[in-house]
Amino acid sequence: MISSGLPYPYDAPVSAALLGRARAVTPGGVNSPVRAYRAVGGTPRFLTAGRGPYVTDADGRDYVDLVSSWGALLLGHARPEVIDAITRAAGAGTTYGAPTQVEVELAEAVVARTSVEQVRLVSSGTEATMSAVRLARGVTGRDLIVKFAGCYHGHVDALLASAGSGAATFALPGTPGVPAAAAAATLVLAYNDRVAVAEAFAVHGERIACLITEAACGNMGAIPPDAGFNQFLAETCRRYGAMLISDEVMTGFRVHRSGWWGLDGAVEGWQPDLVTFGKVLGGGFPAAAFGGRADVMAQLAPEGPIYQAGTLSGNPVATTAGLTTLGLATDDVYAQLDRTSTALGTLVDKALDAEGVPHVTQWAGNLLSTFFVEDAAFVDEATGGRPGEPVRDFAGAQKQALHRFRAFFHAMLAHGVSLPPSAFEAWFVGAAHDDAALDRVASALPHAARAAAAARPETAGGLR
Ligand SMILES: *Cc1c(COP(=O)(O)O)cnc(C)c1O
Repeated sequence: MISSGLPYPYDAPVSAALLGRARAVTPGGVNSPVRAYRAVGGTPRFLTAGRGPYVTDADGRDYVDLVSSWGALLLGHARPEVIDAITRAAGAGTTYGAPTQVEVELAEAVVARTSVEQVRLVSSGTEATMSAVRLARGVTGRDLIVKFAGCYHGHVDALLASAGSGAATFALPGTPGVPAAAAAATLVLAYNDRVAVAEAFAVHGERIACLITEAACGNMGAIPPDAGFNQFLAETCRRYGAMLISDEVMTGFRVHRSGWWGLDGAVEGWQPDLVTFGKVLGGGFPAAAFGGRADVMAQLAPEGPIYQAGTLSGNPVATTAGLTTLGLATDDVYAQLDRTSTALGTLVDKALDAEGVPHVTQWAGNLLSTFFVEDAAFVDEATGGRPGEPVRDFAGAQKQALHRFRAFFHAMLAHGVSLPPSAFEAWFVGAAHDDAALDRVASALPHAARAAAAARPETAGGLR
């Protein structure tokens, strides 16, 4: 054990034993890859409980949770009102495969808060984006999709495409198992690059069914759109008769009561054609949705010819969790999340500055990322280190010194703070992150900053 002076030792024997069992029956021992800690090394913690801003692992340690189920939890773990509501719902039966009132109420809540006129409920964000793309292709009668490098839209074949060599060339399969033909219908462009978008539409515009973008990026770290970028996308799509799909699976009901659109589209007066929701929408259960204008949504079965369905879609327990969560997500809650996220980033900056660790902390609404970038473009030595340029795209995010993040991550974990186990993820706060939780983060940070400062590229795996 390397644990001298640490509140928690680095090893986690119960989690390690569970991982061994898990690996025998599940690929990599996990049901979603990033949970396996491959990007940071070490043993993923198997969790047994969550309470407010804390999670407890199988070894009996608790952590301030800055993963928040990858953004799905807005109100912290086991919020009593949500637990009461779902307990009552479950007692009345967990699924019927028939319409229920709570589905109507959740759809009404989404329509009331966002730009969409109608929604269809599904069970995961992947299902939402897959269905939105099908709807866009069906309505436009076109096949091509435009997406941005570093944006994640679930594991849909055409959306796992990775960038080809040049700008505005067709993509390559992002994973074995995606047919080349599926990837070849996708153009992958650099985020925040208006010129690339204009060029792609100039060449292929008549064949483009849709452009899909994260409303603000969270899946390559927190990277906001440049001012006016989303509006530019909406206008470009309109000019060419393509649809703009704004993927708000991560940002929807998290950064504002109306999602990211509440921070730009509602202010600037434009609307996406289709929007996808998930994560917070399900209140900790598998529920997601896609929506848009009523005339577009009317093309879906049974109103229209485009097929889409789901046995558990609109599940009464999941929709109850989502509806109860949205009901508790008042403007005050969003203001509090903004304050918490600002305070957290300020603490991180202070600790890293004290150790002279080059980095850029930035926000997309209340999504927060610290990028360990050392490049002069980001961290200007002449001006004392910070602030330099923000990270604006995937190429920028890839310039991180990953060994520093790994060391930082493990030191935070050893001091009772659980960060997303990858340098390409946003950190998530919730309504339950109070002063006590922030105090714990503040006392962990100096240790993590020292670990990051001491990290060397060859010590991949951080402090082990
Ligand atoms: C998480 C996420 C998805 C996929 O949602 P799942 O529920 O994991 O299938 C899609 N788009 C964005 C922007 C996401 O953050």
